[in-house]
Amino acid sequence: MIKLQNKKDCCGCYACMNSCPLACIEMQEDAEGFAYPVVNEERCISCGLCEKVCPVLNNLQPRKPLYVYAVKAKSQKIRKNSSSGGVFSLLAEQVIQKGGIVFGACFDENNKVVHRYTRTKEGLEAFRGSKYVQSEIGSAYKIVEDFLKSDQVVLFSGTPCQIRGLHLFLKKFYPNLLTVDIICHGVPSPKVWNAYLTQVSKGMSQYKIENINFRDKQYGWRNFGFSLNYVKDKHVIHLIEPKYLNYYMRGFLSDIFLRPSCYQCPVRSLKSGSDITLGDYWGGAGDLLDFFDDKGVSAVLLNTQSGVDYFNILDAEKRDSSYKDVLAGNQSLEQSHSEPEKRTLFYASFEHECFYSLIDRLIRLSFKERIKLFILNFRMRINKLNK
Ligand SMILES: Cc1cc2nc3c(=O)[nH]c(=O)nc-3n(C[C@H](O)[C@H](O)[C@H](O)COP(=O)(O)OP(=O)(O)OC[C@H]3O[C@@H](n4cnc5c(N)ncnc54)[C@H](O)[C@@H]3O)c2cc1C
Repeated sequence: MIKLQNKKDCCGCYACMNSCPLACIEMQEDAEGFAYPVVNEERCISCGLCEKVCPVLNNLQPRKPLYVYAVKAKSQKIRKNSSSGGVFSLLAEQVIQKGGIVFGACFDENNKVVHRYTRTKEGLEAFRGSKYVQSEIGSAYKIVEDFLKSDQVVLFSGTPCQIRGLHLFLKKFYPNLLTVDIICHGVPSPKVWNAYLTQVSKGMSQYKIENINFRDKQYGWRNFGFSLNYVKDKHVIHLIEPKYLNYYMRGFLSDIFLRPSCYQCPVRSLKSGSDITLGDYWGGAGDLLDFFDDKGVSAVLLNTQSGVDYFNILDAEKRDSSYKDVLAGNQSLEQSHSEPEKRTLFYASFEHECFYSLIDRLIRLSFKERIKLFILNFRMRINKLNK
């Protein structure tokens, strides 16, 4: 039976809940807003399955990819709406064309990040782009298993711990499954995301939030921004802020509200078992400079032969690269971020204090950044007054 002594020992992947034959594990939110398994001890028969599928308890050896590439989708539209070079969409479209099913993270009707699946190209739009919040897996692994058993092709995309959780849950190799994970910085809690949304939407209760984009490329791919739309009837108010001025992104990039397990992630160094790993190609290769146009380049790590086979038939702009070059710009590939002392202060206060003043108190901006923030806030107020 899963008994958590330390919050860092659970990555919230839902594999234990999905695997319990008596459905006696429930995922419950803690005070920080992260989901943890709670076992109904009266019903539990101590079969031990939940422990056998836990990514923390069942660690793999670090891997190195077979091949590494820098890649751009040829479609400008796909690249614009994707976080890096749009490779996820190209892989997913290939699977859809084969009549397969794609699982990914999207927003639900309450702007919560959840895992869903689609069989259509149009359905992929919701999965496109990184959502910097832990997504809720729910019973997705069981649904994947049903599809696989009925010989359907499935692409499952998610964080490395979700991919490892899925593989452990499935217990066996399915040739009709392609798993794609991301180089992962770490994930914030849904409760923090909700607190931010509540703060930023003050005075906008008549409006619906649409098109949330954590990686808006209006200022470029490297200097990306956070954006969303407020919509009422046909009236749209567009909010966009550079990443270093947006309160949520400042907290995320300073690591002050990541999940405890992310500070000692058990699946970095490609230990997720995924076929393909995708990231931003921030890396150091000078000979690729002519390839960068600040619209997004994906780092693609092909970890298995199945990943290689899918990748080889992609119609995209590709350049050979190396693990060393990707790692140079992406330490998250191997190393967890350190837990800042301020994390405790953040979680002690975020429910009672104004989100903005809390972030300002914990993360100092430079003088130049403060001036820019003042102007941005002023413009926002004018926008709201004119609505
Ligand atoms: C929480 C998080 C942290 C990341 N940290 C890094 C990093 O440190 N370095 C780096 O190089 N890249 C990081 N990435 C990955 C990067 O932002 C891109 O997602 C990746 O390069 C793929 O980009 P793309 O253009 O091919 O496709 P996109 O369309 O941008 O990718 C979307 C894919 O990401 C998945 N996804 C989106 N949000 C979530 C989520 N909350 N949980 C699980 N899966 C999700 C979707 O299911 C889909 O498969 C991170 C992504 C996330 C979600």
